[in-house]
Amino acid sequence: MDTHYDLDSVIRKVPDFPKPGVLFYDITGILAVPDAFRYCIDRLEEMCKDRSIDAIAGIEARGFIFAAPLAERLGVPLALVRKLGKLPGKAYEKSFELEYGCDTVCVHEVDVVAGTNVLLVDDLIATGGTLKAAASLFEEHGANVVGFLGVIGLPFLDYAQVLEGYPVDVLLEYN
Ligand code: AMP
Repeated sequence: MDTHYDLDSVIRKVPDFPKPGVLFYDITGILAVPDAFRYCIDRLEEMCKDRSIDAIAGIEARGFIFAAPLAERLGVPLALVRKLGKLPGKAYEKSFELEYGCDTVCVHEVDVVAGTNVLLVDDLIATGGTLKAAASLFEEHGANVVGFLGVIGLPFLDYAQVLEGYPVDVLLEYN
């Protein structure tokens, strides 16, 4: 049984990064404290209990940090969802709109297996736009997205609405 760890105490809040008006939640403070990092992975693993999960997909870049140990603990494959131009093999692509401009996420075609249940993991869920685009990479090719996990959630940015219809779980929320 894991003991409680106050994650808020190790998440650094950086005002006006990467641009004025944004409060950046920096998870590197979690990684600097092994007990905090282990607690995070323990909790994420707990959230996967009694769920049918065939694969984990981690979102570039900080999502990888949490997705990788979780996939290893669950004993399931890990797929990397990356930005355009980073994957060496044949990849599916999905573009999506940001506040200003647009972005593209990609996944190796071989990592999308029709009929399998995939759980998507990121460090922080803000608008939910990245996860929504990542989900369609899998769903458009026959895999089932069974939910989203984040360490941090920012509910005031309405990710629940964008990700409506899916289970979304986070370890802590900031308003
Ligand atoms: P979104 O697509 O709006 O849900 O944005 C999620 C992605 O942007 C995640 O991969 C986060 O790492 C990053 N992100 C967005 N807002 C913040 C924030 N305030 N602090 C830290 N990371 C953020």
